[in-house]
Order: sequence, then structure tokens, then C-alpha cells
Amino acid sequence: METRVVKVGDVLIGGNNPIVVQTMCNTHTDDVDATVAQTLRLAEAGAQLVRITVPGLQDVPHIREIKARVRAAGCDVPLVADIHFSSETAIAVASVVEKVRINPGNFHRDHAEARRQFARFLEECKRYGTAIRIGLNHGSLGAYIVDRYGNTPQAMALAAMEWIEMCLEAAFYQVVVSLKASNTVVMIEAYRELARMMQERGVVFPLHVGVTEAGNGDSGRIKSCVAISTLLAEGIGNTVRVSLTEPPENELPVAQYLAARYSAAEAPVLPERDGIVLKAACDYGKPLLDRTIDTVSFPELEPEFGAYLADELMQACRRKFYRPEYIACPGCGRTMYNLQEAFEAVKARTGHLQDVVIAVMGCIVNGPGEMADADWGYVGEGGGKVTIYRGKEPVLRHIPDSEAVDKLVELIESER
Ligand code: SF4
Repeated sequence: METRVVKVGDVLIGGNNPIVVQTMCNTHTDDVDATVAQTLRLAEAGAQLVRITVPGLQDVPHIREIKARVRAAGCDVPLVADIHFSSETAIAVASVVEKVRINPGNFHRDHAEARRQFARFLEECKRYGTAIRIGLNHGSLGAYIVDRYGNTPQAMALAAMEWIEMCLEAAFYQVVVSLKASNTVVMIEAYRELARMMQERGVVFPLHVGVTEAGNGDSGRIKSCVAISTLLAEGIGNTVRVSLTEPPENELPVAQYLAARYSAAEAPVLPERDGIVLKAACDYGKPLLDRTIDTVSFPELEPEFGAYLADELMQACRRKFYRPEYIACPGCGRTMYNLQEAFEAVKARTGHLQDVVIAVMGCIVNGPGEMADADWGYVGEGGGKVTIYRGKEPVLRHIPDSEAVDKLVELIESER
């Protein structure tokens, strides 16, 4: 799909340019040393953009210092500020970084005020040559849009179009858009719908594609690859982030594999097993998601591995659920506990359950809103405490994390 080209520092996104690979720091932004070190490591490992959370105005000096130190180290990787719940922070940081990601669903509590603030934000971005990402997520659409259109792929695309129209009115074209979901079917439908709407409108901005809260291990990789490859095969998608609940370095080979398979980007060297898993996800994701095939098998593989791979593919494409569906965010500078450890503990204790969606989220500020259609949520509060949610409802608060997995399992079992 022919798109406009957006310039982020020296990186070009869209048009005929190869697919751009990006990731996000999971260090605390006020820990400047750790964030500088991680940014440099990620750039060295091939990240072409590095996103860093900026939770509030108090962190603007930190991101300024991080950028200065990254540049002083001779690294020119463009930095992307990730903003939630604070339009003032988005406006303040527009003069600091190369790109700002905002989530329209939480840009401001009041929709009319959000539009006013967005107009101010675009003026600042124009002044400093800063690009933006309009980054909507399935789990955090604004109430104004859900009330009118439901929590659907169409609602996501329509919500994005409202902000795109504002950019066009302001003659602001440094725009990338994303519509992420953890549900692969919702995700591909949302992007397809938005691509169609932008084409009808006659202005096609580049798309950042990704499956949000994909989890970790093979299942996180497979879930990401089936959905992202489906879109890339259709020419939808110009920059990729593979969100894994693992160290962010681990995301890069997967994103690089996708970028190389669908554009003229350089392919990574992968361990043989990883190559088999990613190739299978890209070969069979689209036909399974589009229901042009109903099963998949790998007679050429060792039987146990082949059967496991087939099950994981069927689950990632939502064709058969043979274990719980897990949603887990990758963590970021807002995470106040050991998310990766907690996710492993939850998986180890709940793997026998079926027909249940369990979310493990890194922060109490954004996590509950992002859990989308989870039946149960395990959300780190910080300070060694966890809140457990039934759907969107907090049912147990301030549980010490040493007891929280037991409590979660007890609750799930008691309601089955
Ligand atoms: S939900 Fe996870 S990734 Fe999102 S802001 Fe919170 S900690 Fe960061």
C-alpha cells in the first residue's frame, strides 16, 4: 500500500523504504544511567527507533538528559516519547525527542479538551519538526467512541480517523498510526479497516503494526508473527514492534525477521528452532486467520514439536484454545515489580485451565485499561503489592506479591 513518508530523525518510515524495526526501553526513565545504557544496547542490536516512557512533566528533564547522553555517546537512534494520561507532557516533550506517541483514548479525560490539547500538540510538533504516532489500543479506546460504536475493530479505525482528520486540518503530515490489540483477529481487522478508510480519504499515513501484550516465549512470538505477517503480506505496515514480556533485546530478531521477509531489510541470523517457529507462523498465520485452511500439521518435524507448534498456531489464530489465553504487557518505565517473573509464575500455576483469558500487567495506571477482554487480571501496584481483577473490576487489592498467584488461582478455581 502506497503511503506518505514520515521522517523521524534520519529514519524514513513508509513509501518504498524497508520496514523499520523498533522497540521500547523497560528501565525507569528517572534512572537515566540505566535508560541510556539500555538505549545504546538496543540501538547496537539493531533497533532503528527506541521508545521511552515519559510518565509526567517531572520526567521531561530526564528524557532531555537521556537524549543528550545518547548523542554524546555517538548514537543517533531517534527517540520516541511514550505518553499516556498527560497531554501537557506530550506538548512539553515535543521539543525534546524526534517522535511522540500519544494514545488518544487517554490523551485527556474530556474529549473536547483532548481535541484542543491535540491542536496545541500539533503546533509544537510542527515548530520542532517532531513526528507523532497516533497509537490507539483496543483495550483503551475512549468512552466517547465505545459508547457510539462498541469496542470493535471498526470503532478503533473510526477513532483513529478523527485524529487523522485533525492532522489534515492542521496541515500536519508527520504522522504514523497504530491500532494494536492482543486479539489477533481484532488487530488485523482494525488495520485493514483503517487502511481502507485512509485510502478512501486519499491520504495514507504509514502504519506501525504490532500485537500488544503478546506475552513471551514461543506463544508471544507466534501470536505476533501470525498477525503482523498477515498485514505485511497485504502491504499494510511500515514499522514493526514485537512486544514481548522479556528483555527488549529479545524482540529485535523477531521484528528483523518480519522486516526482512516482507521488505528489503537485512535478515537476522536466528537459531534453527527459532527460524522454524517464525517461518511456520508467517507461512500459516494468514490462511488460518482468514479461514482459508482449518488445520495445520508439520510431518517433517519431530512429532512432539510438530504437534506443539500446530497447537500454538491454532491458538494464536484463535481457531482452537487448548490452554488459557494469556495477555501480558512487555513492561516499561512504569513497571514497578518483576513482571517477567510474575508472568512465569502465573503461567506455571494456571496452564491446566482452559477457556479463560488471564492478563498480567506491569502497572496499575495503564494496565487495567489495557487488559481488553481478559477474564482475570493480575496487576502490579508497586511496593510489593498486587491487585487482582475480575474483568474490569478490582476484586482483591494490595495483596502481597508472595500470595497473589495463590489468590488468583483460588479465585479462578472457585468460579469454575
Ligand atoms: S501496561 Fe505495561 S507496558 Fe503499558 S504502561 Fe503499564 S507497565 Fe508499561
